Amino acid sequence: MTQLAPSAKALVPFVSVDHMMKLIHHIGIEPMLRGLASYIEADFKRWELFDKTPRVASHSAEGVIELMPTSDGEVYGFKYVNGHPKNTAEGLQTVTAFGLLADVGNGYPVLLSEMTLLTAMRTAATSALVARVLAPKGSTTMAMIGNGAQSEFQTIAMKAICGLTHVRLFDTDPGATAKCAANLAGYGLHVTACNSAQEAILGAQIITTCTADKQYATILSDNMVGAGVHINAIGGDCPGKTELAPAILHRSDIFVEYPEQTRIEGEIQQLAPDHPVTEIWQVLTGQAPGRSADKQITLFDSVGFAIEDFSALRYVRDQIKTTGLFHPLDLLAVPDDPRDLFGMLDRAAPHPHVASAK
Ligand code: NAD
Repeated sequence: MTQLAPSAKALVPFVSVDHMMKLIHHIGIEPMLRGLASYIEADFKRWELFDKTPRVASHSAEGVIELMPTSDGEVYGFKYVNGHPKNTAEGLQTVTAFGLLADVGNGYPVLLSEMTLLTAMRTAATSALVARVLAPKGSTTMAMIGNGAQSEFQTIAMKAICGLTHVRLFDTDPGATAKCAANLAGYGLHVTACNSAQEAILGAQIITTCTADKQYATILSDNMVGAGVHINAIGGDCPGKTELAPAILHRSDIFVEYPEQTRIEGEIQQLAPDHPVTEIWQVLTGQAPGRSADKQITLFDSVGFAIEDFSALRYVRDQIKTTGLFHPLDLLAVPDDPRDLFGMLDRAAPHPHVASAK
C-alpha cells in the first residue's frame, strides 16, 4: 500500500508565531525573560567552545538580510533575520526572523522556529543580563529612547532581571510612545512619556537607545550623558547605522558581544579598529571587571550575536518538550532505502510502468 504519511522520526518540531505567543503566555513574560537570560549566560560562560563568525550580511539600499550561524560541537543553529527601517511606514516589521537547530552528529534539523518574537525576547534578556553586571547598583530608572517593536520587551526585561521600577519614554513619533505606554500598563512600572531624549534621560541610571534609521544618527549627543550611567545601545547594528556621538564612546568603557562583528556593525565602527573593548562573556566568567567605579560610563554596544539566538532556540526546544506547543513538520525526505530517494516519489503517485500496465 502507498505510504503517504512521513516517517515520524523525520518530523521536525515547528514553533509557529501562534505557538510562540502561547508559549510566552504559558511561561509568563517575566519568567521567560529570566529563563532566556540564564540560558544565554550559561552559553556565554562556555564561549570558547563555540564556532564563531561575524554574521553573513546581504545589504541593499533599503535594509539588510543576515544569516547568523554557530555551533557548540553538538548542536548547530542559525537565524535568518532582516532589518528594514522603512518597513514600518508600509505596515511591515523592521525586524523579522526565523531559526533552526540541528544535530551536529547527523546534520538533521531538530527544531524550526519563528524568531521575530523570540529575537525581541532574547535581545531584551541579553540587555538586562548585561545591565545586571554593568549598571549602577540599585538602578531604578531607565530612559527608553525609540519606542518601537523592541521597546516593551527591553523595559520588562530590565524590570524582571535588574529590578527597574521607572521608565521614561521618548520617540520622535508620539504615537509609538503612546503605544508603548499603553502596552506597559499593568506591568507594575511607573511610566513617563517625555517630549525629548534630553527630558527622557533626566534621573535615569540606564539609557537604552533602540531607534531604527539607516544612517549615522545622533540619538545621544555628548552633553546629554552624565557620569555614572549605563548605556544600552541596541539600534546601531549595521555598517553606516549608529546612534551615539563618537565623543560619548571616548568617555565610556565599552563592552561588546563578539568584537569581530561589533567592529563592523556597532557604535565602535566610528572608532579606530584597535580601540579597546571588553567582551561581555569575560565579565560573566569573572575574567574581566564589569563596573568598577561610580562615575564610570559603561556602554553595552549591542548588535546581537548568533550565540544568543542559539541559547534562545535551546530554551524553546526544552520548553516545548513539556508544553507540546509545536507542529510536527514534514521537512525532511526519509526514503525507505536512504539511497532510493527517487523511489520515494512512488508514495505520492504510482510508478509510471505500474500505472500503464493497468
Ligand atoms: P521599530 O522600527 O519598530 O522602532 C524604532 C523606533 O525608533 C520607531 O518608533 C521610530 O519612530 C523611532 N525613532 C527613529 N528615529 C528616532 C530618533 N531620532 N529619536 C527617537 N526615536 C526614533 O524597530 P525595532 O524593531 O524596535 O528595532 C529598533 C532597532 O533595534 C533597529 O535598528 C534594529 O535593527 C535594532 N535591533 C537590534 C538588536 C540587537 O540585538 N542589538 C535586536 C533587534 C533589533
